[in-house]
Amino acid sequence: MSHDYDDQNIFARILRGEIPCNKALESEHTFAFHDIQPQAPVHVLVIPKGPYVNADHFAEAASDPEIADFTRAVARVAREAGVAEAAGGNGYRIIANTGPDGRQDVPHFHVHVIGGERLGRMLPQREG
Ligand code: 5GP
Repeated sequence: MSHDYDDQNIFARILRGEIPCNKALESEHTFAFHDIQPQAPVHVLVIPKGPYVNADHFAEAASDPEIADFTRAVARVAREAGVAEAAGGNGYRIIANTGPDGRQDVPHFHVHVIGGERLGRMLPQREG
């Protein structure tokens, strides 16, 4: 399957420093910053530095070191934000919206780390 990466997407521009952001963390292969429209007291976006469109593309094309670094960075964000139970927090949610049905707006793979309060249900209840 082809995954055409648009290097003008907003997160690519943040990675290049063309658009400012409120940085949360940086590691060899991963960058994290606070969402501009937070949905909860903690809302951090974690992105690989590499050009991956979505979760599917990342899993397929990223190297093992990139995937390991990303996974650990997500956990570190949660600990440093104080929401991980290991850091005395009360838990959090990880979301990776993927593609049109997943309502992904920015075509650079990202995980939302959301917490700091009791969150609503994962999905609205279906009718009927
Ligand atoms: P998606 O809907 O693609 O899963 O999530 C995209 C997220 O990026 C949204 O939560 C949105 O608020 C956030 N976002 C969009 N543009 C910017 C920006 O320029 N800066 C930051 N920090 N977040 C952004």
